[in-house]
Amino acid sequence: MEPGLYIVATPIGNLEDISRRALRVLESVNSIVAEDTRITRGLLGKLGVKIPKLFSYTDFSNSNVVDQVLSGISNGLSIALVSDAGTPVISDPGYRLVLAAQLAKYKVIPIPGPCAAIAALSISGLPTDKFLFEGFLPEKRPARLARLSALCQERATLVLYEAPHRLKATIADCIEIFGGNRKSFLGRELTKLYETVFLSTLLDLQSLVDADSNQTRGELVLLIAGFRGKSSDLSPELSQLAEKLSEDMSKKRVSVLLAEYSGLTRREIYDHLIKTSAK
Ligand code: SAM
Repeated sequence: MEPGLYIVATPIGNLEDISRRALRVLESVNSIVAEDTRITRGLLGKLGVKIPKLFSYTDFSNSNVVDQVLSGISNGLSIALVSDAGTPVISDPGYRLVLAAQLAKYKVIPIPGPCAAIAALSISGLPTDKFLFEGFLPEKRPARLARLSALCQERATLVLYEAPHRLKATIADCIEIFGGNRKSFLGRELTKLYETVFLSTLLDLQSLVDADSNQTRGELVLLIAGFRGKSSDLSPELSQLAEKLSEDMSKKRVSVLLAEYSGLTRREIYDHLIKTSAK
């Protein structure tokens, strides 16, 4: 094997999704750097790959692991990086290690394969010409709402990874910020036995998970269609705030205040208030 760092994608549920190249690389490298060595040992066992030297690595590991990998490559070794499932570095450890190898001018070789985000996008029926990989939203609600508000007028399809116990809260927050009619897609347990998918509005998705708690189990990718309105449209949250404030303030004052806060122009907010007060 040519010396270097091989970034090897592994299955996200179905063992048959390992590529022939990934198998060959995993069988041939001098060592494997893994997110969790127990999980990787189990995977290699199931794939029938003889188990080479395994090191554990997370982006919080001390820099010794990075140094060890770099010095290994400089001594002619080939080293693979794998995560527990899917493509390493994508919402998984590896960024610091890849950066260090790139800066040291070593070869970093992609061995592409499964990735939950791409699997979900490929079957969702939502536009994929532009998508924004957001990964995991912040856990704390205020930060999550702030992030969603910032994404409210994003035109690309949003790709979120979500933990089962947070799915309901995230859907509720998405409805609050994007409105319940926004199209969404939930891909659950993709490539696994209990794979389920659902394409509809956020409100329908909320009804689905409220009616059947099984829909919140397992591994989940949530896609949200991009914003389809005019860019000057206010988000439901901002519109509500503007209307509330204008009960006690002039429209002009509200427009000045919210223009600073939202990134929209004063004119856009003022026009919105005129439109809504005329209704
Ligand atoms: N690097 C991985 C990849 O390439 O997709 C992602 C790792 S991230 C730590 C794990 C998250 O990916 C899960 O919480 C879930 O949101 C998503 N995920 C992983 N496997 C999945 C699957 N089989 N079905 C749906 N989502 C999955």
